[in-house]
Amino acid sequence: MGELYPRLLKLAELARQYDIGLNIDAEEADRLEISLDLLEQLCFAPSLAGWNGIGFVVQAYQRRAFFVLDWIIDLARRSKHRLMVRLVKGAYWDSEIKRAQVDGLEDFPVFTRKVHTDVSYLACARKLLGAPEAIFPQFATHNAQTLASIYHMAGNNYYRGQYEFQCLHGMGEGLYEEVVGDTTAGKLARPCRIYAPVGTHETLLAYLVRRLLENGANSSFVHQIGDESVDIAQLVTDPVTAAQALEPLGRPHERIPQPTHLYAAQARRNSAGLDLSNEHRLASLSAALVVAVDPLFAAAADRVLLMLYRVLDPARSQVVLGELPMVGPAEVAGDLS
Ligand code: FAD
Repeated sequence: MGELYPRLLKLAELARQYDIGLNIDAEEADRLEISLDLLEQLCFAPSLAGWNGIGFVVQAYQRRAFFVLDWIIDLARRSKHRLMVRLVKGAYWDSEIKRAQVDGLEDFPVFTRKVHTDVSYLACARKLLGAPEAIFPQFATHNAQTLASIYHMAGNNYYRGQYEFQCLHGMGEGLYEEVVGDTTAGKLARPCRIYAPVGTHETLLAYLVRRLLENGANSSFVHQIGDESVDIAQLVTDPVTAAQALEPLGRPHERIPQPTHLYAAQARRNSAGLDLSNEHRLASLSAALVVAVDPLFAAAADRVLLMLYRVLDPARSQVVLGELPMVGPAEVAGDLS
């Protein structure tokens, strides 16, 4: 916060000066909490009071997205800003799955079935559209089914500033040609903002790789629309109906092993890891550390009490590996009288 916040505030003040909206993009799940902390502080910056140009991106594939939105809507109301919220599905799905498995986390931060991300996106959209005084919803998607669902969900009484769509420069043009433009020309008369990356080749390489992964994935809408073996009915299936057909409801993907069961085929459990980006986990860890290093007092020399620490085996916390005496300045100075 000490390093990032002053830079972010300066950028936001510049953006305000030029009347340009500023959005905090969404990255990996373990960065969400710090991004939210930054957003909260920004919302209460006196130099930004009354400005409606602060924006934040929420990823619907995160299982907590729906609740993150409650917090953001509340923040908007508390700080008296109309916040821009760009709703995306999320661009780091593969990495989130692999990181949770490598780190041996209890569960994934994201859904494991695409249909659940699609349903979450619609539920989040409904929540955003339901708080028009607090939120300017920005729906960033290249999926025609998702777009059409939002168009109908938002109703016929569109007014300027109710919401907008967003697409990436060079993508979704065919789709948005049907959206932007007058109803007399057979279009939907809804605005679309184009997100265009700016920067050097080096800084944009990661962005490009993400787009390649996104468009190459079998489950991606953009990939499927180019595949003639996928028929239209399949492409526009209502995700809510598809999700309701799963038993039990919300069933995770059976081909994606839970982090703890990664080695089930080898009949062993994955080593348990710690999610160090989770504040609750950090608090319980610090409490556990106090217990793990258990101080004892022992008469080490004549009348001097030395503090001994019991060192436990980190893999089997019941096993005492040894005892470690701690000396103080007096012992270091050789004063054991
Ligand atoms: P669809 O094909 O309908 O959805 C694909 C998405 O579904 C995947 O990206 C993934 O999120 C999800 N998915 C795929 N398989 C699974 C599965 N097995 N289980 C669960 N979910 C699955 N992304 C960011 O992370 N941060 C940003 O700041 C960001 N900014 C963006 C700005 C704009 C203007 C746009 C258009 C996109 C942005 N994205 C961002 C990318 C976005 O998150 C999606 O990756 C992309 O738009 C594809 O989603 P879709 O609705 O267009 O397509």
